[in-house]
Amino acid sequence: ARALLAPCLYLRSGDALKSLLLILFSVCLLQFQKDDARLARERNRMVQTQIVARGITDPGTLRAMDHVPRHLFVPSSQLKDAYSDRPLPIGYSQTISQPFIVAYMTQLARPAKDKKALEIGTGSGYQAAVLAEIVDSVFTIEIVPELAIEASTRLKMLGYGNIISKYGDGYKGWPEKAPFDIILVTAAADHIPEPLKEQLAEGGRLVMPVGDPATVQYLIVLTKRKGRITEQRLEPVRFVPLKRLKQQ
Ligand code: SAH
Repeated sequence: ARALLAPCLYLRSGDALKSLLLILFSVCLLQFQKDDARLARERNRMVQTQIVARGITDPGTLRAMDHVPRHLFVPSSQLKDAYSDRPLPIGYSQTISQPFIVAYMTQLARPAKDKKALEIGTGSGYQAAVLAEIVDSVFTIEIVPELAIEASTRLKMLGYGNIISKYGDGYKGWPEKAPFDIILVTAAADHIPEPLKEQLAEGGRLVMPVGDPATVQYLIVLTKRKGRITEQRLEPVRFVPLKRLKQQ
């Protein structure tokens, strides 16, 4: 209502065009604020019904899932399903993971504000944004050049200054930036790439879907302690396959 007051004052001063433009602007602004509030409610419902209800308890993860505007990471054709309980296509035969899977992998990685993370498979950039809300910095690699550019532009526009992204084959990790406290691989392979194990910091955790990329995989958590790696096998999941660049 306060936004409409300014145009009325103009109206009294008799400048009709200016007041009309101001009214239009104010109506748009009010509509925008209403949409924003509605999307925030949808996001909160997503966190309560899909994530808290399934046992995710890490406060940082829940806060991040409630904060990151998932609807800005999906193609406009998928907008109405942005907060649905499922993965969505993002083009180039790739998907943005289901919200619960993003939250589950984030919690498994034990994120904290002093940690440095590496993500393989930037996709839309959503998982990177969720991590970046909690940790110190996120390095993320994407093998589809178009997606790499789209995600990096989106993350910059949204102000995620602590995400550094690049195009490339994540199989090799990012040796120049290693070691990483957290490594998340959001594409499936039948084994964990050796370079990623090497780039895991002491006390670090690596989370990756491992198994037959064409059918079902299991989420694996690797932990490195005193240089020794231990492996834990968790839930069955379905991810798109980890690809390799041809010349390698
Ligand atoms: N984390 C993403 C979704 C991942 S989908 C999100 O939040 O939206 C898996 C992504 O991994 C796809 O975008 C795919 O192109 C990418 N990918 C597959 N193989 C890869 C590789 N070797 N290196 C880097 N990215 C890879």
